[in-house]
Amino acid sequence: MTTFDKIEHPANGDTITVDNNKLNIPDNPIIPFIEGDGIGPDLWFATKMVLDAAVEKAYGGAKKIEWLEIYAGDKANDKYGEYLPKDTLNAIKHYIVAIKGPLTTPIGGGFRSLNVSLRQLLNLYACVRPVRYITGTPSPVREPEKMNVVIFRENTEDVYAGIEWREGTPDALKVISFLNDSMNASIRSDSGIGIKPMSVTGSKRLIRKAIQYAIERNLASVTLVHKGNIMKYTEGAFKDWGYELAAEEFGDRTVSEQDLWDKHGGKAPAGKVIIKDRIADSMFQQILIRSDEYDVIATPNLNGDYLSDACAAQIGGLGMAPGANIGDHIGLFEATHGTAPKYTGQDKVNPGSMILSGALMLEYLGFDAASNQLRTAVKSVYSEGQSLTRDQGGTASTTDFCDAVESNLRALAKQRP
Ligand code: NAD
Repeated sequence: MTTFDKIEHPANGDTITVDNNKLNIPDNPIIPFIEGDGIGPDLWFATKMVLDAAVEKAYGGAKKIEWLEIYAGDKANDKYGEYLPKDTLNAIKHYIVAIKGPLTTPIGGGFRSLNVSLRQLLNLYACVRPVRYITGTPSPVREPEKMNVVIFRENTEDVYAGIEWREGTPDALKVISFLNDSMNASIRSDSGIGIKPMSVTGSKRLIRKAIQYAIERNLASVTLVHKGNIMKYTEGAFKDWGYELAAEEFGDRTVSEQDLWDKHGGKAPAGKVIIKDRIADSMFQQILIRSDEYDVIATPNLNGDYLSDACAAQIGGLGMAPGANIGDHIGLFEATHGTAPKYTGQDKVNPGSMILSGALMLEYLGFDAASNQLRTAVKSVYSEGQSLTRDQGGTASTTDFCDAVESNLRALAKQRP
């Protein structure tokens, strides 16, 4: 058993294990949580309350989550004297599924984003963001209900690998003279330099997850979004590796868009997922004017960063967009937004994104009934329109919103046969 420095294994609850490459989920799994900085504590209090209520109402006590607090950010610094202690990484590795609030990136020399560190140290290579409209949410577009897409953003490579040299430094000048003298480049000597690595391994494992997701849920298509017309050996290769992987590993369950038209008259054969690709700039138009033609998107890190915020804006903003960082087995669930420091401790912000991230976590645990009821309860709060937070045009507090979700869960439980 993993040993910790300053946390204890809970007395109750069981540990999630991996058997034959599949998660084995007990009825009372131990789930570590990181409260987070800024608005994190307000959001976590609210989210825990409705997650517990959803599980209780769906299973009448037969299933229960045992929570274990682990630490990152300011609270970790107070307890351990560091922002991301080993206990936290070890607990997530040991218990496999965890949830976190937003974390501040400390300002000052040498600090790396804690979120990026968590993703890289735990090898959580897929950032999964479902973007779905909930009726009643104010949206800047005419037909927001047409957006129902799940974005798989590569989480570990691309320009986020952090290989950069500042203009004028000896290292930058060394790289520039190597490229100019030996690689036939002509780079100005006053340039800063950044490197964009994208591998077959990193790209294929992300695209594999996206295709598996689409197959498991009978979704119509997976779209590879890239800028391969300009960056041929990174973004263009991502697209080529995607088609290659689909043909090699999922040949009987997928059809390329090219074959769809050349061989099948534009109609997908039953049970097959269409694999298509779009250039990133055109995709920003497509999600606005043809949102309903996209189901799952697989894309490199930077495109995914831009695209997920743009899609979230169409369905009512960051306060509504849930997310998960997933590796081979580990799942770390989190809201898409940050710590919103100006609202800290005011009980004002929208807990929607965090609650929906919790619903995503329940789905990952196979607690589908609880997950569905929680989503239905959130939807009801929006359609009733009485308990909306300020970012959604209302005046309700975080607690009011959660109380409304809980009372809708109670109403749903009463309707159960
Ligand atoms: P932010 O997401 O905290 O805030 C952006 C805007 O959205 C602000 O106007 C904020 O008030 C609003 N907002 C955010 N969450 C909201 C919610 N739930 N309800 C209503 N309004 C909400 O982004 P930022 O200001 O760029 O970053 C603040 C800090 O958060 C930084 O330290 C940054 O590094 C960190 N951050 C963390 C994460 C994460 O933990 N995953 C993500 C992004 C930013």
